[in-house]
Amino acid sequence: MSVLLLADHDKGELSPATARLVAAASQLGPVDLLVVAENPDNIAAAAAQIAGVRIVQVVKAAETAESITNSLESLAQRYQSVSASASSVGKDVIPRLAAKLDIQPVTDVVEILGPNRFTRPIYAGNALETLTDPQPKHLLTFRASAFRPAASGNAAPVENLDLSVNSAARFLAAHRTESDTPDLATAQIVIGGGVSVGSAEGFQLIEKLGKTLGAAVGATRAAVDAGYAPNDWQIGQTGKIIAPDLYIAIGISGALQHLAGIQGAKKIFAINTDAEAPLVKIADVALIGDLFEIVPQLIAELEKH
Ligand code: FAD
Repeated sequence: MSVLLLADHDKGELSPATARLVAAASQLGPVDLLVVAENPDNIAAAAAQIAGVRIVQVVKAAETAESITNSLESLAQRYQSVSASASSVGKDVIPRLAAKLDIQPVTDVVEILGPNRFTRPIYAGNALETLTDPQPKHLLTFRASAFRPAASGNAAPVENLDLSVNSAARFLAAHRTESDTPDLATAQIVIGGGVSVGSAEGFQLIEKLGKTLGAAVGATRAAVDAGYAPNDWQIGQTGKIIAPDLYIAIGISGALQHLAGIQGAKKIFAINTDAEAPLVKIADVALIGDLFEIVPQLIAELEKH
């Protein structure tokens, strides 16, 4: 049961999610990583260190959905499972591959119960579905945040493949929010701000708390729609799925669509003026009060230590 896994990378570096994906894929069998990148050397070298990786296969190509799909397709016949992250790349590539190979993919896997039994959330995370995939070959996407990262310390061989995978599509540019905070999907501490933060300037307060704690910063859709926070900060059903050790929810009511993204959080700390807010009710610890009074006090206390 060997598994081909697409390595997750960004800005020329291996993403921390890849070690989590390897941990997931290893439950199915030996894992061969595939790196598709224009400048793959650093990514491949980091990937080779992840424990459980048998080989890192490298395709030097433009990072378009077509070239990644074509690379996976060229290698797919050797593997019983072909897998990727349930990230925007995986969500783009795996359905294309599924159409080419005529295989039904199993997406958003959060638990592996056996060689062909998987658990995944359905109905916006309100229920978990266990399913058996009877197909001889599996196409899977894993939610990286649901798995603990594999250790490092490996020295897997790196093989450069000479595949002709380019397509008519060309990668022109990526327009992204520059941030030096940790990645939301894999951060150990996440701070979320709601629409009650009131402005983009108000979010600077949330970011300051984030920096003090080394936390990633996210937001509700209401805050994003209001233009207070960038789109890629959105947490929830239509945003990012997080699974930190600690989630600090500031001025967030706890709508179902937001809760769908935070179910993997181990501890929740809420700051809210409303003691009856749904998020306060599910929180492990809640401070009832005005965020504009509490957050500056928290920052001041944390800066003393
Ligand atoms: P509100 O619900 O308005 O809550 C504000 C909270 O702040 C309240 O609890 C209030 O008591 C508290 N508050 C007010 N003032 C203060 C203060 N000074 N100090 C402390 N607390 C204060 N939402 C998401 O987040 N993510 C999604 O992915 C998402 N997807 C959606 C998909 C669909 C199809 C739909 C229909 C909706 C989706 N939503 C999503 C929106 C969701 O339904 C809620 O509208 C949204 O989450 C509410 O955001 P909020 O908690 O910031 O705002």
